[in-house]
Amino acid sequence: MAFQEKRVALVTGATQGIGLAVAEGLASQGHKVFICARDAEAVKDTVTALTAKELEVDGTTCDVTSKADIKAVVRAAVDRFGPIDVLVNNAGRAGGGVTAEIPDELWEDVINTNLNSVFLMTREVLTAGGMRAKNRGRIINIASTAGKQGVVLGAPYSASKHGVVGFTKALGNELGPTGITVNAVCPGYVETPMAQGIRQRYAQAFQTTEEAILEKFQAKIPLGRYSTPEEVAGLVCYLATDTAASITAQALNVCGGLGNF
Ligand code: NDP
Repeated sequence: MAFQEKRVALVTGATQGIGLAVAEGLASQGHKVFICARDAEAVKDTVTALTAKELEVDGTTCDVTSKADIKAVVRAAVDRFGPIDVLVNNAGRAGGGVTAEIPDELWEDVINTNLNSVFLMTREVLTAGGMRAKNRGRIINIASTAGKQGVVLGAPYSASKHGVVGFTKALGNELGPTGITVNAVCPGYVETPMAQGIRQRYAQAFQTTEEAILEKFQAKIPLGRYSTPEEVAGLVCYLATDTAASITAQALNVCGGLGNF
């Protein structure tokens, strides 16, 4: 859906997988899109590739576990394109194992990357990013179906994503009277580099092959296949439209039927 004026979107973790599809989708929909990730080369290559498709995209490095980086990326996005209308908190990491053996560092990094970053980035965008002053906007958090049910050997990940869903519902209700909506999109299994890594680690944990793990996962999905990053981006892009104004404080699945909740 085209807007009369170009709106500004900030997408975290947008150099591959779901974030990349979201950045391309929002830019194709008429947004100016500012992206970030940790790998400077990947950010540069992504900006070049999307700009070559005549999309208005720029970006910089940011580690969402760093408070200083979060402040810097929001400032950079506003300097480049203006106040932020759409924030997509997508950057995330997998992480788990036998819970009794999980080191502090792993637990803390998963919670910092997947959950604390969502609060810190959202607060920065509402204030320095100009969203609260505009009293209009879209905050879209990429959670997971693992944010609604427990995942075996995934306690830190599941805990972080349940946290994202809870944060989303609370903030959505809080900002209800404003023109700012807050929603979580909950993918199930999506074919991305992260999904490939997860299959590798489960194959090691269960001493089997990645193909066997893929078959096992696919058998759980009513559609019989992984979702695509573009299918997840489709819902994100819809939530960014004016028509989606009455959808707020929700956690919506894109999962091939994996979750019915
Ligand atoms: P990928 O690992 O394929 O891509 C992650 C992106 O985030 C990369 O651009 C990566 O770049 C960036 N990133 C990772 N850590 C940080 C960080 N600390 N700071 C800034 N950027 C970071 O992930 P997916 O596309 O699969 O997942 C995207 C989101 O969707 C995540 O939140 C994930 O939890 C969620 N999700 C994914 C599912 C799946 O099956 N794939 C299922 C359910 C939810 P760089 O490494 O350079 O920083």
